[in-house]
Amino acid sequence: MKESGGRKQGAASPCAACKLLRRRCAHDCVFAPYFPADEPHKFANVHKVFGASNVNKMLQELPVHQRGDAVSSMVYEANARVRDPVYGCVGAISSLQQQIDTLQTQLALAQAEVVHLKQFEWKKGRWWQ
Ligand SMILES: [Zn+2]
Repeated sequence: MKESGGRKQGAASPCAACKLLRRRCAHDCVFAPYFPADEPHKFANVHKVFGASNVNKMLQELPVHQRGDAVSSMVYEANARVRDPVYGCVGAISSLQQQIDTLQTQLALAQAEVVHLKQFEWKKGRWWQ
């Protein structure tokens, strides 16, 4: 069957989740809005890491307006876990944490330099008056 890349029509093409799980995609399928048939890899990693029934449960427990964000974060976490089986997205978090520490040190040094230069300018100004 051809995909047009847009919304699925009726029960013609199952969403990526139902396709992978080899089940019928109901019109009220909880996965369908977030896992379109033309992005099969998106669900594959989420299923591998979280398990379809857990994802289903998590989505059911959330209000509809928050489900898209939840899916985005699950996809991000799952992809990170597949890329880095040891640290997953914690690898990215600790790398960013290190960058924050480095930048805070640089900022403190720059602020100390500013204070030093201001003192110098102030002394110079007094000297000249
Ligand atoms: Zn479905």
